[in-house]
Amino acid sequence: MNRRRALQMVAAAAAGNWMTQREAAAQQQVARATRGTPSPKIKDVQVIQTAPAGLRLPVVKVITDQDGLYGYGCACFTQRADLVVPAVEKYLRPFLIGKPADRIDDMWQAMYNSSYWRNGPVLNNAISGVDQALWDIKGRQAGMPVYQLVGGKVREAADCYGHASGGEIAQVIASAKDYMSRGFRHVRVQVGIPGMEGYGARGGASGTQIKALHSGPVYEPAYYIRRALKLFEACRKELGDEVELLHDVHERVHPTQALGFAKDCEQFKLFFLEDVLSPEDIVWFRQIRQHCTTPLAMGELFNSPHEWTPLIAERLIDYIRVHVSQAGGFTPCRKMAAMAEHFSVRTAWHGPGDVSPIGHAANATLDVVCYNFGVQEYSPFNERVQEVFKNCPVMKDGYLYPNDTPGWGIEVDEKAAAKYPFGYGEQGGKKSLNGGWGEVRKRDGQIIKQ
Ligand SMILES: [Mg+2]
Repeated sequence: MNRRRALQMVAAAAAGNWMTQREAAAQQQVARATRGTPSPKIKDVQVIQTAPAGLRLPVVKVITDQDGLYGYGCACFTQRADLVVPAVEKYLRPFLIGKPADRIDDMWQAMYNSSYWRNGPVLNNAISGVDQALWDIKGRQAGMPVYQLVGGKVREAADCYGHASGGEIAQVIASAKDYMSRGFRHVRVQVGIPGMEGYGARGGASGTQIKALHSGPVYEPAYYIRRALKLFEACRKELGDEVELLHDVHERVHPTQALGFAKDCEQFKLFFLEDVLSPEDIVWFRQIRQHCTTPLAMGELFNSPHEWTPLIAERLIDYIRVHVSQAGGFTPCRKMAAMAEHFSVRTAWHGPGDVSPIGHAANATLDVVCYNFGVQEYSPFNERVQEVFKNCPVMKDGYLYPNDTPGWGIEVDEKAAAKYPFGYGEQGGKKSLNGGWGEVRKRDGQIIKQ
């Protein structure tokens, strides 16, 4: 029985007294149970293109047919951001207009399957933009933050790690001490390699030149490994045993080197070693697992949620690294975290500056609702980012707090967003590549994975 019919019967009963009081009360219960706002329909889907920190951040806005009811979702694939825009505007927008905004999983499945060929970074980010916007809408409709919609908090806030980096080891240690003085219990440490293009830290001893058979950026894995081990040794000596140290290899070494490196890291008790293998080499995790206890984090380059499944099910990694929008949004990531919980594999959602504050809010929401939370990567929101994205998640003493306001709790100032269009702050090769990355080669000219 629908609500209107129930109310009619209650009114008729009151007027004609043909229904017992008990029956009338039962009908009133039905009316209460089926009340609520009408199902909102999707009226428009737009993409806000902004780069307030010099990184291209596509953010999807889904507008419903109900006055003032809309939501935002993160669709950030900064290296190919311009391609996400038509994926939303030309394909998802016409597909979604008129469809219900309150059937989130159903819409996710519909979008995911409608391209037939799926699991690519452009399409998954486009889907994520809509998916997260629908969660924002549902939260706004309910008057609750998204973390309440999915069961409420299991912890107060997300323990985060910051990026301590520098060209020299002393600079990294100074940066780590700065984080620790601000309350951080976890720091990721990356040091530059003299004359080379390291990941996470540039440079090293100025003026050092590596002879190469090309004129571009150079990287040699063996140099990097020796330098990183010296960094960890110095960190333990200077920073003590209490601080949790993390490190990102960024998939730049051969699997055999990865195995030896993970084993050599064991003595320094890292919190985790990230992306020690590339996605193409993941079968090597079995060998690494058999030889050492260094905790392993993996997956920010994966596309499909199914790519994490075998690593979780075989307990070959300790932390799932996931760029939430790359995996298709909040909906699939919540399921993935729930699956990982049963295998005692923990979460470490990707959280650098190339995730929008909407995405950080989604990360923080997953952090506080998932029992198997591990750690959260954090990057600060500068003044321009906060000018565009009002009410970003709050950082205090190394903890990130999701907002208590409905949905993601963030409002986008579209006028401010327009002040920082795609390309803002970009220079040189990055500008000419529309925000894309260049190339790094070994001394002999061979391309390395980035
Ligand atoms: Mg990484």
